[in-house]
Amino acid sequence: MSVIGIDFGNESCYIAVAKAGGIETIANDYSLRGTPACVAFSPKNRILGVAAKNQMVTNMKNTVFGFKRLLGRKYSDPLVQKELKHFPFKTEQRPDGGIGIRVNYLGEDNVFSPEQITAMLFTKLKDIAATALQTQINDCVISVPSYFTNAERNALLNAASISGLNVLRLMNETTATALTYGIYKQDLPAPEEKPRNVVFVDFGHSSLQVAACAFNKGKLRVLATASDPQCGGRDIDTAVAEYFCQDFLTRFKLDPKKNQRAYQRLLQEVEKLKKQMSANSTRLPLNIECFMEERDVSGDMQRAQMEQICADTFTKVERTLRAILHNAKLRPEDISSVEVVGGSTRIPAVKALIEQVFGKQASTTLNQDEAVARGCALQCAMLSPAVRVREFAVADVQPYAVRLAWDAARGEDGDMEVFPAFHAAPFSKMLTFYRKEPFTVSAYYSDQVPYPDTFIGQWHIRDVQPTSEGESQKVKLKVRVNIHGIITVASASLVEKKQDASQNDNVEMENSNENANSSQEAAMDTNGGQDQQQNGPDNQEVREDEMKGEPQQKQSWTQRVGQWFTGDNGDDKKDKSKDKSKKVLVKTVELPIDARTHGYSQQELNTYMEQEGKMQAQDRQEKERADARNALEEYVYELRGKLSEGESLHDFVAEDQRSKLVNQLDALEQWLYDEGEDQNRQVYSDKLTELRTEGEPIKQRRLEFELRPGALDDLALAI
Ligand code: ATP
Ligand code: MG
Repeated sequence: MSVIGIDFGNESCYIAVAKAGGIETIANDYSLRGTPACVAFSPKNRILGVAAKNQMVTNMKNTVFGFKRLLGRKYSDPLVQKELKHFPFKTEQRPDGGIGIRVNYLGEDNVFSPEQITAMLFTKLKDIAATALQTQINDCVISVPSYFTNAERNALLNAASISGLNVLRLMNETTATALTYGIYKQDLPAPEEKPRNVVFVDFGHSSLQVAACAFNKGKLRVLATASDPQCGGRDIDTAVAEYFCQDFLTRFKLDPKKNQRAYQRLLQEVEKLKKQMSANSTRLPLNIECFMEERDVSGDMQRAQMEQICADTFTKVERTLRAILHNAKLRPEDISSVEVVGGSTRIPAVKALIEQVFGKQASTTLNQDEAVARGCALQCAMLSPAVRVREFAVADVQPYAVRLAWDAARGEDGDMEVFPAFHAAPFSKMLTFYRKEPFTVSAYYSDQVPYPDTFIGQWHIRDVQPTSEGESQKVKLKVRVNIHGIITVASASLVEKKQDASQNDNVEMENSNENANSSQEAAMDTNGGQDQQQNGPDNQEVREDEMKGEPQQKQSWTQRVGQWFTGDNGDDKKDKSKDKSKKVLVKTVELPIDARTHGYSQQELNTYMEQEGKMQAQDRQEKERADARNALEEYVYELRGKLSEGESLHDFVAEDQRSKLVNQLDALEQWLYDEGEDQNRQVYSDKLTELRTEGEPIKQRRLEFELRPGALDDLALAI
């Protein structure tokens, strides 16, 4: 069993593995560490990763990229509409309002969701890891942009399920980078000392993410994040390409925008030019042969000119860099270093902005491309029993304020903020309701989320009835930001109290019991509305417990369900002494919840999994077919070569038989390029078997000859 971390980028993906000796990044089937987030379709199979990107310009309508940004969104989403305009492949609205990507696959029109396309890419990444590590891959940690909402996170988890990956955690990209930074640092301040604040800047293909983290020995705490999901290296490409479109129109009367293929080529060349400009401030040429109408084009650009053309992008970068100071409430002098990762931080103008905003040079000590994947692999190892790594506590935040709303009863407020922006995550809060009947709560993002729909989910709590005296029951809801950064109502339970013998005041006691297995409690009652109490253990403890102990915690919770237990049973060490004198029996009964949130139902998931399985089988079959054809082709070439004049097998077969065989081989070669181009596997392997019955005895004779004593001397004489 291997534990891997996956950096699922907008442009490139990286896989890292945690081994006893440390973290390694895995190379793919092209010996590259980065695998393009690209999926293509052909009449015979799917083409995934590097191979997909390589054939993009010649198969544009069936090559899908840029889909990470489509996850969990609706077709009508204005952001989606903006993205779709630039895609060379067809898209449409699905009956459920989701996005459909229409491609020609196996000679037929097929519509896939972004989740399915992502699952295809994950299948490839899984395959790359399995081949490199020679083992099955299941457990993994996958990176997500810190600004991803519930809908996007759920979509990503769905994609992982479709591909058969078991995600131990969706980890925020900047947090993964921070873990990579912190784990091997020997000189972090002791736990009781003032933490070291470090800012991480990840400027990638289409997004910019910044995080401020506080480090002490053995732990890191994310203080805040700031991001611009609409600002990335591709915006520079687009702006520079726009410049050349105008330039070509003026000088060559060619409009690349009228020709998708030409425009894609221009983008590719512009990206190369951009990378050269990062290292070089002199004027650099751009040449494309046979660009449009069989004409060559050429142009040039200087770094300063690019910076001017892309001023908007750099303004956005600066704004986001300043936002982290505000969000984390830090001054530049509170920050000990600014670590940069992501391809676009190689741009000198970005480094200059960092220096300007933080008053210190950008530090490039981390591997800019692999830090995210490595952090994910580390986290995976920490969460999995398979590999032991150094412990390092990671306390993250969730980026948006979350409100909970419910049907207000008896004058209580109908909603409250359960988590402010940058609240610690993972985290649970207990909310107490007094109800006589089933009720519903809904969660919303209350801040400016980069999403037109702020809905998170709705939970209907069933089986609530009045007490035997007709009174309201006490219902406790556990609202949680889980380990994936997804907000849920994790449980609802009825709390019944039965006084034993002597004592009366039991409210506090019951709270403490809750605290033993939850975290922080925000209690509300029907009279007080929002009487928030925070009498749980301190935040730090809670977060670590939550991270490592999630499964156990669940268990201990269910163990209590329907069980009578006493308040002083020692469950809660913290409050034990205080409560020693009391004896109250508390029974908690778990209530059924109907949840409506984003993401596929199990049934839909099953359908997609089955479909993915079939496509994998088809790919395998096609690969076996191609392998069989190659094997035959190879044998034909090899045998013919060896049978020719002066070669090793020439003298080990009678001349008439030899020339007959060579003719047969010539014919086979011809056939392979004619009707033999596209046969099924069996045809090739039958032909190979047949051919081997002729070829192998000749090879055998040669071998026997070689093995004879003194054979090599004879051979030397013969030659
Ligand atoms: P994201 O983080 O947005 O999901 P990603 O992780 O795939 O995307 P990266 O691989 O970090 O993105 O960065 C890719 C971007 O970096 C591309 O836009 C690429 O052109 C740009 N890039 C790479 N090297 C350089 C360079 N030397 N100079 C300028 N830009 C570069
Ligand atoms: Mg990235």
